[in-house]
Parts: sequence; structure tokens; C-alpha cells
Amino acid sequence: MLLRNANVVLPDREVKASVVIADGKIASLEGGSAGEEIDLAGATLLPGFIDVHIHGAVGIDVMDASAADLRKVSEYLALQGVTSWLPTFVPASDENYASAVAAISEAMSGPGARILGVHYEGPFVNTAQCGALHTEYFKTYSGPEDLNSLPLPENAVRMITLAPEVSGGIELIRELKELGWVISIGHTRADLKVLEEAGDAGAHHMTHFMNAMAPLHHRSPGPIAWGLSRDDVTFDLIADGIHLDPFMLRLLLKVKGTGGISLISDAIAAAGKGDGDYNIWGETITVKNGRTANASGSIAGSVISMLDAVRLLHSLGISYVDLARMASLNPARLLGIDQVCGSIEPGKRADLVALDQQGNVKLTLIAGNPCF
Ligand SMILES: [Zn+2]
Repeated sequence: MLLRNANVVLPDREVKASVVIADGKIASLEGGSAGEEIDLAGATLLPGFIDVHIHGAVGIDVMDASAADLRKVSEYLALQGVTSWLPTFVPASDENYASAVAAISEAMSGPGARILGVHYEGPFVNTAQCGALHTEYFKTYSGPEDLNSLPLPENAVRMITLAPEVSGGIELIRELKELGWVISIGHTRADLKVLEEAGDAGAHHMTHFMNAMAPLHHRSPGPIAWGLSRDDVTFDLIADGIHLDPFMLRLLLKVKGTGGISLISDAIAAAGKGDGDYNIWGETITVKNGRTANASGSIAGSVISMLDAVRLLHSLGISYVDLARMASLNPARLLGIDQVCGSIEPGKRADLVALDQQGNVKLTLIAGNPCF
């Protein structure tokens, strides 16, 4: 297949090029003849977005989704330019984790955006920074047997958001690192000493930076000061314009640089459904003007997609080269799959999204197959 005349967003620049796709991979950026041709004149071709933190969409929550439900989410996400995603679990019972993982295992080979594995948001997090998570399922860590209650699909990416200050937290990080988990610090009030220990133990990423963590204080540096000061620590952001004021988005981009930031949606089941009341996680979550709130008034995730985050940041003057890094390459690096996908380079999988001049998705390809 040949994609002609697009503005192609490479890792370091944007070029007018024709992309040849063969065997599901990007074969060349030099053009040539290659069977079916798609004219993308006027469109911008980006690597497909990778969302490492998403709880659901189109009325479906990953905690109680069947495999067929998950495929519906995957199809919706493909329409939003997302080519890979990590279903993200809120703290729940062992039985609920087990049933959710069973459905994910079954859906991993399905159509639409690829399901990479699972992201556990908790249960080892701080009750004082619970956000919309249900504290009755929070846990402390006493030894490797505690990990038996966190089932995993086979051959899957495994990511966890944890607070290093919970009892046994540093041991937990060491153990998970050994087992190949991607570790992210979040829902935390850890002080610098604990954060340094967490970094030494193998935690080098932070979940929805600034949200659900102790705020920046000039006499008491905590997670935010630590995450900004360490060059070997990356973080992700919910760029919906609500979780973080657009001014703070600009400030974080300036201080951290686009090399250290990934975008996430942190979307909940209401995403793609519009305003209204939704029964999610055993409570009513209200969506009004795109803002979520649970009964206690806590913000409860977003209803955006990665596409909305990309559009918002583009409207703030962020280039597509920087956005491709934050929406694709950095998440791929975080998960350790950047040799396979995450940028437009020969040899990588043809996971691609073409946006028209208004920022709407014109075409999504997953492993070279048009999904939209
Ligand atoms: Zn979340």
C-alpha cells in the first residue's frame, strides 16, 4: 500500500513524503509503486496514539467488560486515532480483577486498537490521595504472595501506579521491577527521601502528574518537585484542559520538555457518550460540559480521547513533531515497545493516523490495515 502526498511527522521533523507499507510495516518513506494507493494530500500523518491510562469509553468500563465490549472500545479508539491501549483497573476485589483480566486475554487478538496488557491503578496507593478511587480496596504490601491477587494476561504489558510510601512500598517496587512491570508513582504524598528510594528501586515514571499527589510546597518538596527535578523521571498528563489548567500544561512542557512527557486520556466509560449521569464503579458519576464529578464532588477521570488532548495542545502552539513524541513515542518507550511502534520509521509497524487540516481523523491504520 502507498500513502501519497501526506505531511509525514518523523521523530525530528515534518516532511512531504509517500509512505510504502508492506507486511503490516512501514517499508519506505521514498515512495514507489506498491499496489493500493491512498491520496492524503493536505493531511498530516502521525504515528498512531498509544493510551496507557484509560478505564473505558462508549458506556463500557473495563472492570466489567466482556471481550465483545472491549472490542467495541477498541473500535471507538481506532476512530480517535488510538492504535494501542492499556485497559486500566481501579482498585477492586480479587474476583473483579480476575474476571476483567479474563475478558482482556480474550480480546487481545481482536480488531480495532490493540490491547497491550493491563494497567493497575492501585491498589497500593495512598488513601489521602484517593481521588475517585474506592479506598476499601486499597492495600499495603507484605510480601510477594500479595501479588497473587493481581492477575495478568499472558505475554502482556504490565503497568502499575503505586504510592511508594504505603507500608512495604519500596520492597514492592523492587519485586515488581524484577518481574518486568512498568512502575509509575501516583496517588501519592511521598516525601523526597521515600521518592529517592523509589527511584533507586526502579520507579522512573509518574501517573497523571500534579493530579492526586501532594501539591508543590516551597518548604516541603514532594512528588511534583521530585518529578520535575530528576532527568531520569518521566510523567504523563491528562491534557483535557480541566485536570490541569492550560497555563500549567504550558509550564510543565517548558520545565520538563516534551522528551519527558506522555499524554494519557484517563477516560472513563462515559467518554464518547456526552453529558449525563452514569453508573460507574458503583456510584453515579455526572458529566457536565465535559467535566466529571462523583457524589463527593471529586473529579473522576476524563471523557476525552488522546485525539482531544493532541488537538488541545496543538491549539496551544505545540508542533505535531512534539505531539507525536508525547502521544506515541514516549508512551512506547515507557512500555518498552518503541523498537516495534511509536514513530514513523522504516521497519516499525504501520500504526498510523492521518489528520485533516481541522484535526479530524481521516484514516487510522493498525499494522497497515485501514480501521477508519
Ligand atoms: Zn485513572
